[in-house]
Amino acid sequence: GPLRLDVVTIFPDYLRVLDLSLIGRAHADGLLDLHVHDLRDWTHDRHRTVDDTPIGGGAGMVMKPDVWGSALDDVLAAPLPAAPASAEVAEPTKVASLPAPRRVLVIPTPSGELFTQRTAENLAGADQLVFACGRYEGIDARVAEHYASSGVEVHELSIGDYVLNGGEAAVLVMIEAIARLRPGVLGNPESIVEESHTGAGLLEYPVYTRPVAWRGLDLAATEPVLLSGDHARIDRHRRDQAVARTAVRRPDLMARLDPARLDAGDRAA
Ligand code: SAM
Repeated sequence: GPLRLDVVTIFPDYLRVLDLSLIGRAHADGLLDLHVHDLRDWTHDRHRTVDDTPIGGGAGMVMKPDVWGSALDDVLAAPLPAAPASAEVAEPTKVASLPAPRRVLVIPTPSGELFTQRTAENLAGADQLVFACGRYEGIDARVAEHYASSGVEVHELSIGDYVLNGGEAAVLVMIEAIARLRPGVLGNPESIVEESHTGAGLLEYPVYTRPVAWRGLDLAATEPVLLSGDHARIDRHRRDQAVARTAVRRPDLMARLDPARLDAGDRAA
């Protein structure tokens, strides 16, 4: 069935851009089931308080576990969209044997594990992703602890080694990376087969389009192989460029390349 995405935030308007582009179309087409919630709907006081001072002292404010708990209990129990009707699934005996849905709680935080293409591939296989957007100094740590020990799959994830003001921008990044891996979301599924951070683990080779000569940069002189029409040579040339680019720009990736996925030509390059 469609992937259900829930984002809980104190700035629901921040997520409005999800209505645009491929994600918006996937939602409209029923491939994604997107819900954005205002955390303040679960507050218990007339000031709609979501934060309090840190226990133990220190600067800033911490988001309250009781408010987050009320919100996440509701959202993690929300009904999941039905798979498109098929005779097989409609049979009651088959329904009884369906596996429990995979509901995942994602908490963006700069102190989380790094979100990578591998993480996106893993999370794209879930039935529901619930994103808890922190603000201020983040969410009381017992929230992650409570759901993990209650059997919920919890991932505390960082999108990179820098600090944002809130989880919203990080969630936009993660949703975009995950959603494009779901069947039907991209117009051309071929485009995710060989790109940076997939397959062999190389960065993508440089790409060009017409005009062949532009501002004194002439591909006929610099990239004659690409104009040769010889697809085997073109593939080899692009692969060499991918290896060279990865070695220069990302020595960390180069060091972690899977030797089984390299060929003799790569080693020579
Ligand atoms: N005091 C926290 C720390 O040093 O770990 C930083 C909190 S940050 C100012 C506020 C919120 O922004 C976090 O709760 C998280 O939701 C989000 N955030 C900031 N940087 C992030 C990153 N690199 N990846 C994911 N989320 C991030």
